[in-house]
Amino acid sequence: MFTQAELFGFIGILQITTEFLVMKCGCTNSRYGDTSGKLKIYFDGRIEINCTCDENCSKVNVSPIEFARHALRTNSDKYWKSQIWVFGRDGSKVQLVKTCLLKFFKDTYQRPIRQAAHRDEFVRCSLCRKERRFTNRTRDDSRNYHRALASDNWKCSDMPNQELSCDDAEERESRKAVRGCPKNPKCTGCTKCVCNGCDMCRFDDCDCQECTSFILNM
Ligand SMILES: [Zn+2]
Ligand SMILES: [Zn+2]
Ligand SMILES: [Zn+2]
Ligand SMILES: [Zn+2]
Ligand SMILES: [Zn+2]
Repeated sequence: MFTQAELFGFIGILQITTEFLVMKCGCTNSRYGDTSGKLKIYFDGRIEINCTCDENCSKVNVSPIEFARHALRTNSDKYWKSQIWVFGRDGSKVQLVKTCLLKFFKDTYQRPIRQAAHRDEFVRCSLCRKERRFTNRTRDDSRNYHRALASDNWKCSDMPNQELSCDDAEERESRKAVRGCPKNPKCTGCTKCVCNGCDMCRFDDCDCQECTSFILNM
């Protein structure tokens, strides 16, 4: 169990028994604000949260991942430990991952199956009008593409992680047709390569219409 000294680092502890500890916690969406909850840490390694966003909330004894999603965060299966916080001694919000509170936690959670692939996409330069390829293999790639697409004046030199200028040649049409579909290299868009929105390509801190409706429909 936790020592006195360890627990002295927090406020908001509501209950301590021989089996578990209950304390206040929360999760913040930069756009929609804080969702509060009660974090229950069992000394056998389980963690459950009761959401207290309102007294009738149905999220009772849910997993931390489910709580973080309910608080309108994306990618919670990976990042809930830094998305959920508790109150430090001085009242500040401290990410769970930075506390001693997870020392009993056993990660038995299986990651959900993601959208199989996000195909490569093109964004047109506002200066030279050439189309430039964005590969969407990782969440960072997706974010770069999403930002470029949203920008009215994206230009070749803005391409992240790559030296690119308007003088560089554009890809030929035959090459452009290859977009990285896992089923067929020349696919023009199918359910295996075109995503309508998932944790990887929507962002909880983005104000655009697509991200906003994805978060609210989650
Ligand atoms: Zn709730
Ligand atoms: Zn250009
Ligand atoms: Zn396809
Ligand atoms: Zn997606
Ligand atoms: Zn967005």
